[in-house]
Amino acid sequence: MELKSILLPGMEAKRPLVISGPCSAETEEQVMETARQIASKGISIFRAGIWKPRTKPGGFEGVGSEGLPWLKRVKEETGMYVSTEVATQKHVYEALKYGIDVLWIGARTTANPFAVQEIADALAGTDIPVLVKNPVNPDLELWIGAIERLFNAGIRKLGVIHRGFSSYDKKLYRNLPQWHIPIELRRRLPELPMICDPSHIGGKRELIAPISQQAMDLNFDGLIIESHCCPDCAWSDKEQQITPDVLDYVLNLLVIRDTNQTTENLVELRKQIDELDEQLLETLSKRMRISQEIGTYKKEHNIQILQTSRYDEILGKRITMAEQLGISGEFMKTMLEAIHEESVRVQLKIVNQ
Ligand code: PEP
Ligand code: MN
Repeated sequence: MELKSILLPGMEAKRPLVISGPCSAETEEQVMETARQIASKGISIFRAGIWKPRTKPGGFEGVGSEGLPWLKRVKEETGMYVSTEVATQKHVYEALKYGIDVLWIGARTTANPFAVQEIADALAGTDIPVLVKNPVNPDLELWIGAIERLFNAGIRKLGVIHRGFSSYDKKLYRNLPQWHIPIELRRRLPELPMICDPSHIGGKRELIAPISQQAMDLNFDGLIIESHCCPDCAWSDKEQQITPDVLDYVLNLLVIRDTNQTTENLVELRKQIDELDEQLLETLSKRMRISQEIGTYKKEHNIQILQTSRYDEILGKRITMAEQLGISGEFMKTMLEAIHEESVRVQLKIVNQ
C-alpha cells in the first residue's frame, strides 16, 4: 500500500504527533477557550466532535454544522489545523466546505462497511488526511477493510487510531486495548501511521499517562487525547477529559525511546541469539553422535541401554549446575528428559538393528 504522509505543511515530523481538543464542540466559547490553551502548548492539530454517535438516544449528539464555523475560527486565530469525525456523506461535504483539515472515522462507523464506503465515495478526488479508528469489535480484517475502501477511493494520506475494543465486562479499561491487534496491523501494513487514543481506551483521566507511555513504547506514531478547558463541565466523556495544562504535563512526562537505536540494539541482540542457537545445535548434534557410539558399544558388549543410576546422577548434577548458573532447575529437568528420551530412542534403534 503506497501512502503519502499525513503531516500537513509546517508540521514537524516528530514522535508523538499529538492531536488534542474536546470530545465535543459544545459552545463557541468552550471551543475557542480550549483551543487557545491547547495552541499555547504547541499542539498542531485540534480535535472536536461536531456529530457525536451516542450509544443511546437522548444524550448530547453534537452541535452539528453550527459548530463548523467555530473550528474555522480556531484555525484562523490559533494557526492549528482542525479535525473532526465524519460518519455520513453529508458530514464529509459539510466538513470539506468549512475547510476541516483532517477527518477521522469513528469506531462505530468503521464497523459498518456501507457507511465507510459512502464516506470513501464522498471523499474521492480529495487529498485530505483520513484517520480510521478501529471498529468497536476486535476484528482486524474489518479495520483493514475500511482502510482499503478509502485507499481504493484514491485517499493516500491515511492513518489509523487505536481506541480499544468494547467488551461486556468493563473493568479497568473503558475499551480493552488488546495491543496485539494494532501490533499485527503494524506488521501487515508497516507504512500506516498509528495513533493511540488513550482517552477512549482508558475512559479515566488517570489512565491517560500510562496508556500513552505504553503506546510510545510500542512504537506508535502519535496520540489523540481529549482535553477541555473545564473537563468537569464537559457535555460528553467528562471522566476522561483533562485540561490543556494536564495534557502538557502528561506529554512532558513521556519517555520517548529512539526507535532506530532500539531496533539496532535488537538486531545486535538477535544476532547473538542466532549464533548461540547455532552453537547449541552443534553441541546437541555432537552429543547425539557420542550417544550413537555408546549405543554401538552397548550392543557389542551386550549391555542394557537404560542405566537408571547413571541417568539419575546426570539429572541431579546438571540441575544443580543449572541452578548455579541462574537457570531454573525445572526447565533443566524438562530439557534433559527430552534429550535423554531421544538418546534412548537412537540407541534402541542401533541395538535392534
Ligand atoms: C470520539 O473520538 O469522541 C469518539 C466518539 O470516539 P470513538 O469513535 O472511538 O468512540
Ligand atoms: Mn469522546
